[in-house]
Amino acid sequence: MSNNNRAISVVIVGGSYAGATATKQLAGLAKGNYPNLKVTLIDKSTHYFHVVGFPKALVDEDYASECFLPFSSLFDPKSNHEFVHGKLSAIKDAHHVQVEGGREIYFDYLILATGSQSPGPINPVATNKADALEEIARLRDGILESNTVMVVGGGAVGVEIAGFLAEAYLAKKVTLVHSGSRLLPMNFRESISTGAVTKLKQLGVAVILNERIEIPEDSEYAAQVKGQVLRGSSGTEYRADVLIKAIGLRIDSDFLAPLELAAGTKLRADGPVPFIRVLPTLQLAEPLFPNVFVAGDANDLPMSAKYAFKAEMQGGTAAGNVKRMVEAGFDQELAHATAVNAKAAADVIVPPLSKWSDMVDAIIVPIGSQMGVIQVTKIAFGCSGIANFIVRQLKSKDFMLWMRKPLFKYRAAQD
Ligand SMILES: Cc1cc2nc3c(=O)[nH]c(=O)nc-3n(C[C@H](O)[C@H](O)[C@H](O)COP(=O)(O)OP(=O)(O)OC[C@H]3O[C@@H](n4cnc5c(N)ncnc54)[C@H](O)[C@@H]3O)c2cc1C
Repeated sequence: MSNNNRAISVVIVGGSYAGATATKQLAGLAKGNYPNLKVTLIDKSTHYFHVVGFPKALVDEDYASECFLPFSSLFDPKSNHEFVHGKLSAIKDAHHVQVEGGREIYFDYLILATGSQSPGPINPVATNKADALEEIARLRDGILESNTVMVVGGGAVGVEIAGFLAEAYLAKKVTLVHSGSRLLPMNFRESISTGAVTKLKQLGVAVILNERIEIPEDSEYAAQVKGQVLRGSSGTEYRADVLIKAIGLRIDSDFLAPLELAAGTKLRADGPVPFIRVLPTLQLAEPLFPNVFVAGDANDLPMSAKYAFKAEMQGGTAAGNVKRMVEAGFDQELAHATAVNAKAAADVIVPPLSKWSDMVDAIIVPIGSQMGVIQVTKIAFGCSGIANFIVRQLKSKDFMLWMRKPLFKYRAAQD
């Protein structure tokens, strides 16, 4: 017989797009049939950062401040759910995570939503709001003092940053350099790339394609490169005062090493970026750990899945699958003892779970506050004025921050 009053511990690591969605869904389960289900959210930062809005945050100090929402406000203070501010340092076994500094937390179910990191301050290195705002402000100040800015990387991030900089700082020369033959990801139509080039040029941005810049060694992200020669793969030499890297995505998945040792197998992809390997159900691709899920940018789904809206959908899929396992009594079959081992978990029958499928490709790219390009499935609007209108309506104003705020509803005014 299923005992709905049993204690169930769900740990979610990373509270951004994938993690916040999963957190809210599973906390909802505790409000319903499972009053003793506890959700513990661990994040290395005190605040969620709406990274999608970074291009606007870079030029708008007030908006930058709004982009930080405290993780603690995801939970009803009257509930027994918990936010733990700390960095996941190790998954010790099939039931325990360790937070940097030593705290060990038991889990029946674990959802890893640790995402990806772009070069700071696009993803701030700081782990609290004040210091993260300071990082963004330092780059803003550097740009204000400069005459020329080079943005390297012509994906959506680089295009948006270049457009907002050119619009906000009319007197500065902004150059966007991209190693590919066209802007924006190649799985989208060429017309949105052409539209992006046209609209960037209208804002005065110089767009250079098919050129790979040798990034100076000391430029972790935004470097003061005044006086330096920036060499391109074509042999051309460039100069700029500030260089912004809108390329290079990192994954922090070292915390999996102990589990890999226990399983005797690699849980991370080979190659330069150690994405975490998953099954279509978003469970770890290793039968010993059916209770561990990975949602969002951190998993090894294709690059075409690395979008905030898809991370949210994956957070929903992972949470839905945990719910199915809870309802089927998966955790009940395990002893709630610290000695529970991976083999015991693998022997418990897992109910049929949902598979995540990537059905919709969409991209909305504001170019300054008034223009943009958009593609949803096969329908693309590049050069047209309709594109500008739709992008303004859907995104340019606050980069969809309004959609995220309701999740963090237990916020005090000063937060
Ligand atoms: C500038 C920019 C603009 C973008 N614009 C768009 C857009 O318009 N639309 C779109 O769909 N996508 C956009 N993207 C992509 C989108 O932001 C990512 O796909 C999305 O952030 C992935 O979400 P996630 O939940 O997987 O992880 P992330 O958003 O990367 O969050 C991971 C979370 O985990 C925490 N964390 C990481 N490691 C640890 C650890 N070891 N211990 C504890 N906590 C940890 C982090 O602090 C963070 O809170 C943009 C990306 C960038 C950089």
